[in-house]
Amino acid sequence: MTAKPRPVPTPDTQFYWDRAAEEELWLPRCDAEGTVFWYPRDFCPSCGSRSVSWVRASGRGTLAAFVVNHTPHPSYAADGPYVIALVQLEEGPRLMTNILGVEPDPAQLPIGMPVEVVFEDRGEGLKVPQFRPVAA
Ligand SMILES: [Zn+2]
Repeated sequence: MTAKPRPVPTPDTQFYWDRAAEEELWLPRCDAEGTVFWYPRDFCPSCGSRSVSWVRASGRGTLAAFVVNHTPHPSYAADGPYVIALVQLEEGPRLMTNILGVEPDPAQLPIGMPVEVVFEDRGEGLKVPQFRPVAA
């Protein structure tokens, strides 16, 4: 079986992956205007400020959009069809991710469904933030 892809940290994302390894979700924030944004970079995409810091996210959000992938990459084949989603985070940005712990059936994936972060261990100290439905 092929292992699932392992993201390769860059200088802009090293902090993010280091915190994810500790099962914490952090997001970049513009110090000038307070805008929280995604993806990590060394400037604010709203105002261009180079004063950027990190804030810990709540890990909660809602399902904004999704597709069910029925022809997965070989590394995902053992899981069968799976959900690729955009999650609207409480802090503002949207994050591309997978939804775990739910049938890959559109009837089970209402837009606006509350979700929370979980961390998938990809080995060698790397964990990938994923999301699951919040238990009712
Ligand atoms: Zn800004």
